[in-house]
Amino acid sequence: EVKNSGRNGWQFYTRELQQKSEQRHAMLQALILAINENKLSCHYQPIIDIHSGQVVRCEALARWQRNDGSYVPPYEFITLAEESGLINRIDTLMLENACEQLLASFPDGDIGLSINVSPRLFHSKDHALELWLEKISRYSQNIEITVEITERLITANTDKALGVLSELKEMGVKIAIDDFGTGYSSLGYLVRFPVDIIKIDIEFISKLGRDEGAETLVETILGMADKLGMACVAEGIELSEQLTFLKAQGCQFGQGFYLAKPMPLESFQQFVQQANQRSDTN
Ligand code: C2E
Ligand code: MG
Ligand code: MG
Ligand code: MG
Repeated sequence: EVKNSGRNGWQFYTRELQQKSEQRHAMLQALILAINENKLSCHYQPIIDIHSGQVVRCEALARWQRNDGSYVPPYEFITLAEESGLINRIDTLMLENACEQLLASFPDGDIGLSINVSPRLFHSKDHALELWLEKISRYSQNIEITVEITERLITANTDKALGVLSELKEMGVKIAIDDFGTGYSSLGYLVRFPVDIIKIDIEFISKLGRDEGAETLVETILGMADKLGMACVAEGIELSEQLTFLKAQGCQFGQGFYLAKPMPLESFQQFVQQANQRSDTN
């Protein structure tokens, strides 16, 4: 309450602000330490062909476990990392760790990797982008890599983004639009940019079965993607009814707690073994 609060109120307000900035600073220091000590890890969430049940790839998600065993919510430290520029190091570390782990666990290369990248990396002034591209180019020879970008990346610096995405395409890397439907850019970019996959945001999937508008939107996105020759992944499937709807509408891939939660490498390996064995005998 700043309004009409007089001198004491103002002091209270600034003290609170100062506390917030101290907390942020402490968290930033802890994050730098965690990165330097290689304490960030990858969890893997299966992306599944919902008609066959096969796991086709996984999304690598950053996890930060504090010394007391608790996890810091990703939106907290990813936001902080984006604001401070640390995200470039996280994105590169995640790429490297995930590729090394997947190569060791799936030497046949039959499980692809979907990796998130922050718009900041594309606009970095140091050599972060070159370093990241170099790693992608090396690993993509043995792993099918999909890079997940947001609409934000495309709208921020269109020419640069187009150049980098074309370079990725030449390496055989797939491009996915993450959280599709939540951005504010015009749809024109879908035909101007080399997009392979649309990830329909959880916001729409969670409303299936109780909101006709959301159902119409999902059907429309699926139809549009099909016409444009793009595949769709439905994000955040939590209920069997949602899965049934998506199957009936011809959505090919799904991801969500109903199918599988993000998990450490060992559990992911077991999950793949069971799921892909089951679908082989179908
Ligand atoms: P995202 O890329 O959209 O990742 C999917 C998020 O949805 C993950 O959250 C995942 O745990 C969550 N999710 C999956 N299925 C369900 C479901 O059925 N229900 C619900 N409620 N949630 C589901 P997470 O792991 O908390 O990550 C949040 C965001 O942080 C990610 O959203 C991504 O934008 C960002 N992020 C995570 N790791 C990285 C990274 O290495 N680099 C960058 N740049 N961003 C990252
Ligand atoms: Mg993602
Ligand atoms: Mg997403
Ligand atoms: Mg999201």
